[in-house]
Amino acid sequence: MTSALSPDATTAVQNTAGPRRLTLDTDVDICVVGAGLAGLTAALELARKGMDVVVLEREHVGWNASGHPLGTVMPGYGLPVGDIMSRVGFDTTRELWALSRRGAAYVRHTAEQLGPDLALSDGALEVSNVDIGDQLIGRLQMLGEDFGTDVEGWQIERVRDVLKTRRYFHAVHYPTAFQIDGSRYLHGLAVLAKAAGVRIFEQTPVVSIDAGGIRKRIVTPAARLRASHIVLAGNVHLGSPSRRLTDTLLPVWRYAAVSEPLGERLAEVIAFQGSVMDTDGIDHFRIVQGDRLMWSSPETTWSGNPQRFRRTIQRRIRTIFPALGRVPLAETWSGVIGQTVHGMPQIGQLRRGLWVASGFGRQGLNTTALAGQLIADGILLRDDRWRLFAPFELVWAGGRVGRVAGQVVVGWTRGRAATAGVLARWRERAAARERAREARLAAANRQVEIR
Ligand SMILES: Cc1cc2nc3c(=O)[nH]c(=O)nc-3n(C[C@H](O)[C@H](O)[C@H](O)COP(=O)(O)OP(=O)(O)OC[C@H]3O[C@@H](n4cnc5c(N)ncnc54)[C@H](O)[C@@H]3O)c2cc1C
Repeated sequence: MTSALSPDATTAVQNTAGPRRLTLDTDVDICVVGAGLAGLTAALELARKGMDVVVLEREHVGWNASGHPLGTVMPGYGLPVGDIMSRVGFDTTRELWALSRRGAAYVRHTAEQLGPDLALSDGALEVSNVDIGDQLIGRLQMLGEDFGTDVEGWQIERVRDVLKTRRYFHAVHYPTAFQIDGSRYLHGLAVLAKAAGVRIFEQTPVVSIDAGGIRKRIVTPAARLRASHIVLAGNVHLGSPSRRLTDTLLPVWRYAAVSEPLGERLAEVIAFQGSVMDTDGIDHFRIVQGDRLMWSSPETTWSGNPQRFRRTIQRRIRTIFPALGRVPLAETWSGVIGQTVHGMPQIGQLRRGLWVASGFGRQGLNTTALAGQLIADGILLRDDRWRLFAPFELVWAGGRVGRVAGQVVVGWTRGRAATAGVLARWRERAAARERAREARLAAANRQVEIR
């Protein structure tokens, strides 16, 4: 899963001392389960506010999705803003949206603290696979005027000026969205957390918890912990400590790759330096290291070998950008995201002293940052804004049947998006033919009048 090229390969801030396992029984204020983005941010924020915090990680820091993101930091959630609104209404959506922007601002601020080269480029383009100019205007108004987000609408010509493909139509440009080196950010969080006093134990799975009393008990293979608060940030892998919670997440493996250097032909085809993602959530890509293409696309609800998805990713790149030809890939990898049934993250207190931060889906950078802050504020300042997420309660994801259904939905969504795209491109060609026919007719009429 790693090589000199993958986002996992960063060396700048990694812990080189080897894993430190928990072997002695300990008493702490807070126990965080999981050293991904969510767990580390919560731990960092709690330690900064004076808490004695321990993080227990089954594998190693950034073992799963958090060690391998494409690094796009945007406002919002995995669920489209219109869907959030229809569920919780305008006012709550506006508050939730403001929180998502706070999450993105936190990542930028932290990345700046970690080093001037960690935030890499600005801007993200959300491109449409279909011709939806009218809908776009409504959305822009809402995001810009009602939710105070920096956005601009790009017409088709402008999109195609920077992305040489006929697959994309309009786009929403987020000029203040940005890209970071995701892996370095994650390991940087671990460094900051340790500096703030957090003790991180790796290769230390939490096998059970007893969250009943004031002092909660946490059991690991070699030692026990007692804590006043537990933060469950184990994503889909949490397992036995809370089966009920794990069962509310549909595991989705997302596969990604980075290409060999492509030279100047890449800039001729993709002249946009930020991230690009389509509105159907299918493709997500950006240029890295000057002339390499980083791309994530296929998804499965079972664990697949990333190597086996090389061809799928290559085909996908070729479908969108035929001018690039067959793109040689240097490396592929995957990570599992936890998808909730309603599409929103799980942030909040399950029972007194038992907190959850999971279900961040494809958009985990700003939302995990937000979760860490909300939970720290909830524990220490009795700030109950985490309750804004209460309408998105824990819903069983359907077990095995849910996974099969999930795969069908993934396939169906992609199929539907592809069909809609074909139709949109056909309409575009038909309109161009019609314009050409009218121009010919007008020219013929002018000839007749002259005679
Ligand atoms: C290919 C890919 C690209 C992505 N790109 C982006 C992007 O560009 N922008 C963006 O915003 N998001 C992106 N995401 C999504 C983002 O990476 C995730 O939403 C985020 O990393 C989830 O973080 P997490 O901390 O909840 O989970 P995880 O990263 O899964 O961390 C959970 C940790 O908990 C540990 N754990 C679980 N159970 C236990 C236990 N019982 N005991 C001890 N430890 C336990 C696990 O070992 C794991 O390390 C991407 C995801 C993928 C897969």
